Amino acid sequence: MLNEEKSRSAGIHDPVCGMEIKDISKDERMEHNDKTYYFCTTLCRIQFEQNPEKYVKRDDSDEHKHHHHH
Ligand SMILES: [Zn+2]
Repeated sequence: MLNEEKSRSAGIHDPVCGMEIKDISKDERMEHNDKTYYFCTTLCRIQFEQNPEKYVKRDDSDEHKHHHHH
């Protein structure tokens, strides 16, 4: 039998670069709005710190406001 709880922890992604975080115990992390975010490197964490809203905002409704017209 597979341990499903173990595989659940593998679904965490770096909000900055989108990379999957495989070992949250050793990677960079930061708390923002009562949520903990994990990063693959310090560089990604710093980018997040400098502009967290850019990476946190994943509201679909907001995306639909943008109209790209060429
Ligand atoms: Zn990253």
